[in-house]
Amino acid sequence: MREIDDLMSVVFSGLSALVIEDVEDENDLIRVMARTRNEPVPCPVCGTLTGRVHGLCGRTVTDVPVDGRQVVVSVRVRRLACSVRGCPRQTFREQVPGLLERYQRRTSRLAGQLGAVVKELAGRAGARLSAVLAVAVSRSTALRLLMRLPLPPLRIPRVLGVDDFALKRRHRYATILTDAETGERIDVLPGRGADALETWLRTHPGVEVVCRDGSGAYGEAIRRALPDAVQVSDRWHLWKVRREALIDRVGVRDLRRRPVAAGRL
Ligand SMILES: [Zn+2]
Repeated sequence: MREIDDLMSVVFSGLSALVIEDVEDENDLIRVMARTRNEPVPCPVCGTLTGRVHGLCGRTVTDVPVDGRQVVVSVRVRRLACSVRGCPRQTFREQVPGLLERYQRRTSRLAGQLGAVVKELAGRAGARLSAVLAVAVSRSTALRLLMRLPLPPLRIPRVLGVDDFALKRRHRYATILTDAETGERIDVLPGRGADALETWLRTHPGVEVVCRDGSGAYGEAIRRALPDAVQVSDRWHLWKVRREALIDRVGVRDLRRRPVAAGRL
């Protein structure tokens, strides 16, 4: 029996904050029956340790899969009474920091793994991969998980790339800011006008060079906010301008007559 207990502690090592009482095989999923430890915990209001049990309640959360199957943990948690007279929180449900976060239906480590998936693949693709990994979530849940991820600290690049992109072609546009040296995405601004970019540049000092398309609006915003910054045109837009100028000069009618020459432009 000792060996089985050891094996359980290895397989479910992420649940070591709990006492595992039983594991049930339910074909499609593995159910772990567990309880919290009988240890005093601090009152969330006054911080006084208490182990006085007022009642018991259950929580069900999904954990990372085992054996390619979903793992569901049914945890018995205590409702504890604060022993400090006058404390506004007379009773409270205990939490298990780092494992069971308040109001969440997944363990912290499963939420972390799913967060990594949706960060790379977002909605539909994230949902499809999660099903393969035996932790299926819907597309909308995948997006909700993505929105819940904390944003990384904003870094101001030396060379800033500015370009527009269509949220809805010919209707809604946005401006994307990147580190032109690494390609890392820095920020996304609403619209593709000058004002949002000017405000961003004024509130995020440190940019020395701005690499942009031929848009007059972006150029004006950069001149107003960073008069000393060097403005350069990125390679793609430079070629685009040269190509359009050449087509104007040669004439579209001539290019159509000679498709081979047009393809080489
Ligand atoms: Zn208290």
